Amino acid sequence: MDITKYRQQLESEKKRLEGELAELSQTEESEVAFRDEIADRLEEQGEEAAGTDELKEELHQVKTALAKIEDETYGYCVICKQPIESERLDANPAATTCITHRDA
Ligand SMILES: [Zn+2]
Repeated sequence: MDITKYRQQLESEKKRLEGELAELSQTEESEVAFRDEIADRLEEQGEEAAGTDELKEELHQVKTALAKIEDETYGYCVICKQPIESERLDANPAATTCITHRDA
């Protein structure tokens, strides 16, 4: 498994999420009305604006995955302890379950 590749993807994902969270907290007070408007518009289009909670959850998953790399436990399903398929990690480097247990 090419851990270096996933580590790089996770590091850049972490930066992106931290940046978005910082931006959201900056705009929180001054632009609530504006963001609501955008959220409404996105909802109408069938899309949901990523909320702070969602971003925090994603960031938590990314950090967990990075910690697993340090522990050398990265890439194993937390349920069946089998190695996670590489196509699954390619799609989501922060995945902690294999394809079989993805909804668990
Ligand atoms: Zn599994």
